[in-house]
Amino acid sequence: MGRRQLLLIPSLVLLAALLSAACFNDSVGPDAPAEPSAASDPSATPPTAPDGQPDSGQPQGTGAGLAASADAQTDADAAPPADNTTASTQEDPPTDPPTAPRAPPVPPLQAVLFVQPAIVTPGQVFLVAIDTVNATAASVALDGQFVSLAREGDRFYAILPVPFQTEPGILPLVIAVADLNGDLALQQLVQIEVQDGDFLVESVTIDTTLSRLFDPEVVEEDRALRAAVQSVRTPLRMWQGYFRLPTEGVISSTFGLLRSYNGAEPTDFHSGLDFAGPLGTDILAANAGIVAWTGETERRGRGVIIDHGQGVFSSYWHMANVATAPGTPVAAGAVIGRVGNTGLSTGPHLHWELTVYGVPVDPLPWLRELEVPDPLAVFDPLQAVNQPAQASGG
Ligand SMILES: [Zn+2]
Repeated sequence: MGRRQLLLIPSLVLLAALLSAACFNDSVGPDAPAEPSAASDPSATPPTAPDGQPDSGQPQGTGAGLAASADAQTDADAAPPADNTTASTQEDPPTDPPTAPRAPPVPPLQAVLFVQPAIVTPGQVFLVAIDTVNATAASVALDGQFVSLAREGDRFYAILPVPFQTEPGILPLVIAVADLNGDLALQQLVQIEVQDGDFLVESVTIDTTLSRLFDPEVVEEDRALRAAVQSVRTPLRMWQGYFRLPTEGVISSTFGLLRSYNGAEPTDFHSGLDFAGPLGTDILAANAGIVAWTGETERRGRGVIIDHGQGVFSSYWHMANVATAPGTPVAAGAVIGRVGNTGLSTGPHLHWELTVYGVPVDPLPWLRELEVPDPLAVFDPLQAVNQPAQASGG
């Protein structure tokens, strides 16, 4: 029951494939052009490839994604032994005696993989963490998207969302790690189990004067704006620990309720937490970050979106007024606005939403210390998905 429990058991692992650099080069070459955006982005910030990647969970596709990010990170990290080796190999091949050994073997990659938890419900998050020696990059492919894992010390990790619409069943992940040459040295398919969220229906009565807010154009304007803001992601993790309550007041609606408006069939779900409270109550940044957007949409009213880094954003809606501006660094608890009743709202309240890589997740666990996996937690290596893996290094 403890949060540290490592639930990913070996029986869930379908395939453990260790590929040498040579294998990778052979298999991935034709696919490499399919990942131009990740390779060409000089900032190396986008942890995901563009939406709509056609093939999810295909080992070769993952290899291509990794190759792109590995190249970028290898340049940035500039590991001296690898660079020197590469330079001498590429620039002066004809002059050296043919008998001299040209390239020392690539130091072997070691990697221990953790996924926690292995059983999730829609709206939850899970952690993928890899402790490595001699690695330069790591990525995970999930549902057609590639995410480059962040690095802190010898750990690569990402916190990933399970979308609300996910059907119960098995969710496959393909995890890949690059060695000091930036070549794929470890690739593994891991499965986690998605259980039924069993969400309830909430009936909401909306005055007919607000019916315009259900106009598809109004809905799309709001959706597109939020998607655009949250597609620009700070790779550095700014949030730490658990999130704080964003305002006083009682929680009047929770995440995942299926919304039935005026008795109609539910067509939507509630994507955040609602806090009912008096008009003008302070709204606080729930964790450290940078204000990514302030403004107003017809459907959600006045709002603030905060970038917390590594794909995590919090947003605050229906505000009476905004008390911050885009680009402002905020600490947890900073006042960013006040409770209002703007947009699709039936009374003064704050709609507070948390998204991970653009996917709304249940904010409640993030408010309670230790319920969201700690990216830097100490794990038990005996419980790891795979034991330390050795790459051939050629
Ligand atoms: Zn709400």
